[in-house]
Amino acid sequence: MTGTGASGSILTDIPEGESASAVWGPAHDRERVLLGAMREGLTVEEAQTTILGATRPLGAETLSTALAAQRVLAESVESSRRQPPDDCSAMDGYAVLRADLERASRDSPVALPVVYEVAAGGRAERPLVSGEAARIFTGARLPAGADAVVRQEDTRATEAGVEIFVRPTPREHVREAGEDFELGDRLIESGTVLGASHLGVLASIGRSVVSVHQRPTVAILSGGDELVEPDRAADSGQIVSSNSYTLAAQCREVGALPIYLGIAEDRPEAIEARLRAGLRADVIVSSAGVSVGDHDHVRAVLETLGCKLVFWGVHMKPGFPMVFGVIESTGTLVFGLPGNPVSAAVTFEQFVRPALRKLLGHHALYRPVVRARLTAPLKKRAGRMHFVRVALERRDGSLYATPTANQSSGVLTSLIRGDGLAVFSAEKEELAADSEVDVQILETSFFDQDERGF
Ligand code: AMP
Ligand code: MG
Repeated sequence: MTGTGASGSILTDIPEGESASAVWGPAHDRERVLLGAMREGLTVEEAQTTILGATRPLGAETLSTALAAQRVLAESVESSRRQPPDDCSAMDGYAVLRADLERASRDSPVALPVVYEVAAGGRAERPLVSGEAARIFTGARLPAGADAVVRQEDTRATEAGVEIFVRPTPREHVREAGEDFELGDRLIESGTVLGASHLGVLASIGRSVVSVHQRPTVAILSGGDELVEPDRAADSGQIVSSNSYTLAAQCREVGALPIYLGIAEDRPEAIEARLRAGLRADVIVSSAGVSVGDHDHVRAVLETLGCKLVFWGVHMKPGFPMVFGVIESTGTLVFGLPGNPVSAAVTFEQFVRPALRKLLGHHALYRPVVRARLTAPLKKRAGRMHFVRVALERRDGSLYATPTANQSSGVLTSLIRGDGLAVFSAEKEELAADSEVDVQILETSFFDQDERGF
């Protein structure tokens, strides 16, 4: 099944000379992950390793450079020209020959006739010779014969020409041809995340389209007889489905394309019908119905659809009951996340997001982690890794982490009150107040500041 599915398709755009294995990762990982029996009760690390072992970057697409910000380059880019193409002036002023100005100073300026003018985009009429100056403007080509530019501020225009007050250094205020890049220079490596300046460089070498990794499509399913869409009045016993909103936004944040499959009732046929509509996606993310209750049918339905279940259950809180599998015929990755809103969001962060980043071609798969001091002690039983929602505060150059009041996996507002997740490792039972913890930053806007800061 290697390379056949939506997640493993279209190798064709990888340019000749690029190593396919560098782009795709070791081929055997995926096979190894898919061969074994379903495993139960993995650690967070084991679950991540297993998922990433089954995930390979998507193939390339050709995209308008103007739309390529934040995308991952799937080719190496070499320059097709020299930049700047000619020696040119970095200032408004006068092109000169240095030999004429050996004795120039403010007290005894050297007077030169101005024999012509070169504007940006223009061309000198003839080479400049000793005893002459040419008026020149920023970005204009340096006339042949000239070997420096004197800034306008260091001169005085006269009836007869110009008086020059300074003795320029060699090539002063000259931008040398090729000083930015030469023809054939390797400018941007494959795998680079394109930022604003990369797009500028691509434009400057005349690349209006560029090859980038495709964005994964993610089919999102909610499940449960109690669920209604937000625009329906929820009767007693009903719950407004919020997971599809959270999960779709998490997909968009990472650069994936969510497709909402709606809410399936807790009947195998209903779940199957909706999941079928998502089979052509690169990834399926379903929430709820993966636990061990009588109404939890998702796992059985996935198997009906040809999904190889790779593992069930991760020793973490929130989020133990989650399932991961791969649809064998298409390569679609399937995440059955728990239904509780915080569990769904946190398991997405730990497992789905790194996989989506890998599909997108990123090498850096994980959120930033900072060290912070706990303002209150934390206790738990050993066995599961806890992700504790914390608010962060910067005081006297240190970061302080305060756990939000309610850590229940149903309390979604605890996530909006937090800036990140403090990691309470599986084996530990206690973290003392004032001890240092790792905090995974969920909102990079946390780093934005009210003050300029310098
Ligand atoms: P389950 O995993 O089906 O046992 O669901 C666990 C809890 O999450 C239940 O209280 C559900 O009502 C709730 N839940 C499931 N799906 C959603 C959803 N899409 N939006 C909000 N809450 C949900
Ligand atoms: Mg349910």
